[in-house]
Amino acid sequence: MNFLSRKARAILPYTAGEQLRDKVYTKLNTNENPYPPSPCVLRALAAVEGDDLRRYPRPDAGRLRAAIAAREGVGEENVFCGNGSDEVLALSFPAFFDGDGAGACFADITYSFYEVFAAFFGIPKKVVPLRSDFTLDLAAMRAADCQGYYIANPNAPTGIGIGRGEMEAFIASVPDRIVVADEAYMDFFGESLVPLTKKYGNLLVVRTFSKSYSLAGMRCGYAVGAPALIGGLFRMKDCFNSYPVDAVAEAVCIAALSDEAYHADTVARIVAERTRVRAELLKMGFTVPESKANFLFAGRAAKGGKEIYERLKEAGVLVRFWDKPVLRDFCRITVGSPAENEILIKQLHQILL
Ligand code: PMP
Repeated sequence: MNFLSRKARAILPYTAGEQLRDKVYTKLNTNENPYPPSPCVLRALAAVEGDDLRRYPRPDAGRLRAAIAAREGVGEENVFCGNGSDEVLALSFPAFFDGDGAGACFADITYSFYEVFAAFFGIPKKVVPLRSDFTLDLAAMRAADCQGYYIANPNAPTGIGIGRGEMEAFIASVPDRIVVADEAYMDFFGESLVPLTKKYGNLLVVRTFSKSYSLAGMRCGYAVGAPALIGGLFRMKDCFNSYPVDAVAEAVCIAALSDEAYHADTVARIVAERTRVRAELLKMGFTVPESKANFLFAGRAAKGGKEIYERLKEAGVLVRFWDKPVLRDFCRITVGSPAENEILIKQLHQILL
């Protein structure tokens, strides 16, 4: 007897990057931040009391929403928090898309969880190919028949960013469709659409503490948008999990937001290393689109993506590789600390010899 539902049997789940513990790796495969979180975070963690854990947390993550609202220059009613931006994105599918609607539109090469969420929630997908230079084909997306869009900006795994002006023109041109802008990597670009959420009721911006705040292990992300959209996310959350943001996450993320100087400093270090590592990769003959994120998409060198991934792994350096058309020529490499990046560069020189 197979007790699994037809859906559980048929669905192809998302594959997260490897978290190997068999030896110490130079880990450049899941876009984690190479720097620890702010010292304020560690102090907030130490200050968590038994009572904070004994009681259920706030179901609306109210204190954290207030802190995010202050940081983003919006009202608390414009903010929704979830267990990682993955959960926020997941809840957005049933909140804004119908199973019998025209579907959710996204690029063929983008964050692959969109496809999994669409399948999980039974929502049709409209997949639009990237142009040959890996940029998003916004004109083709506009022409697609759909209920709305998922746009990772900067995009993953290419790292390519779209400026605020171009995004605004797109959002203004599709007033009857929701645009979900996934800004997981936006702090490394600095063109966030959050200010535009006041002007466009069809724009939802999704952000995370995982990358620029060095809190991937804490699992907290949020959305900013018009109260009607935020209300939709709350309705879905309250059908699924009353308390997606735990008491520790709330305290820790508030502390992370309080240390703006630390955040700006670590982001600037990563951006500087991104420029340096990209220049090194170009010198080695890689094709590397200009990245606005904390990773580089490098490929088409003398060796294929798979060989580079495997040989780096043997040498103790983990990068991300997808055995799929187009992607298999490339690896996605997280920008690490200067020391980690040196190890990567040294090993790549060896492999390409
Ligand atoms: N969006 C994109 C484009 C990502 O690459 C990731 C990280 N895998 C996420 C969202 C989710 O991040 P998190 O759930 O850690 O906030």
